[in-house]
Amino acid sequence: MTVRIDEKRVFEIIEAKKPRVILVNAPGGLLRQTKDLMAQVKEKYGVTCILSGDSCFGICDTADDDVERLQADLALHIGHNAAVTEVGDFTYLVDAVDDVEFDKVAQVAAKALFPYKRIGLATFSQHLHQLKPVREKLESFGFEVVVGKGNNLMLEGQVFGCDFSTSFPVREEVDAFAVLGESEFHAVGLALSTGKPTFMLDPYMNEVTDMQVAADERRKRAILAVYKALDARIFGVITGLKEGQKMLGRSRWISKRLEMNGRKVIQLAMRDVTAERLAPHREIEAFVQTACPRISIDGFTFDRPVLSIPQADALVALIEGREPGEFLERSKWIELTVGLIKK
Ligand code: SF4
Repeated sequence: MTVRIDEKRVFEIIEAKKPRVILVNAPGGLLRQTKDLMAQVKEKYGVTCILSGDSCFGICDTADDDVERLQADLALHIGHNAAVTEVGDFTYLVDAVDDVEFDKVAQVAAKALFPYKRIGLATFSQHLHQLKPVREKLESFGFEVVVGKGNNLMLEGQVFGCDFSTSFPVREEVDAFAVLGESEFHAVGLALSTGKPTFMLDPYMNEVTDMQVAADERRKRAILAVYKALDARIFGVITGLKEGQKMLGRSRWISKRLEMNGRKVIQLAMRDVTAERLAPHREIEAFVQTACPRISIDGFTFDRPVLSIPQADALVALIEGREPGEFLERSKWIELTVGLIKK
């Protein structure tokens, strides 16, 4: 596997903007390549790069607000390719792509997908350029292939861990989804969001995995957490402080509905929602967090219910005597507040 950061774009930005100091943030899996890039920038242009040591899981984790605090001139956010190239006041998105080919795994997929005729193709940032060749390959095997349209934030066929709004609208046009890349995280998310059979195509092992069991397990745990929270009288409602996850309006709405229904609410704000951070709040019996929904849906370490936005909606419905329905089946689990428009 070779993941390449788009260095050319970085050099163009530096030559155009002539910064003295750059703040860089990147996901854990790209830190080695990012540090190599920082060294190159220093050597080629004499520009100082500061690497953000905070967690960086998605496009929501930009560090725009930190640029001025660190007396930097701009920020580079690495590896979360999107339909936008700049966010906030100072941040430039820099793509990273994986060179791995999908030829072999597409052949394996042709067998695994045999019971289905219409396939929805989706993937995440690093493999977007593989959608076209895999589409052609699957079509050559006789499948009808659908790739969801891009939108204001996401490119054609792209999914985030919380936003499936490219693929969700085509779910009725396909029999199953195929997700390119070794990421159970994205494939399970798409399975839960669309309610469709979903397969992960791993190009490193040339394996195709049906996500049904993993998705069912997450769905059951998500439902169980909602029912456990029904008994709670004291709630903590957490607003995330990460730049792309600030859902203050949702936190207020959920707090109000809980209070209207006789629950006590303590509102909290934090950057990272972890079991360790929640531990001191012993009196709180259940939490709702309006930051990253995957903290709740994939979180195995909490000792009390910690609900995401869709789960909180289900909880409010149950409290108010309504059916919660398939609450995870929606196009987005959070409306990302990434600073999309440059001021
Ligand atoms: S909020 Fe969405 S984009 Fe951000 S880390 Fe969570 S899943 Fe990824």
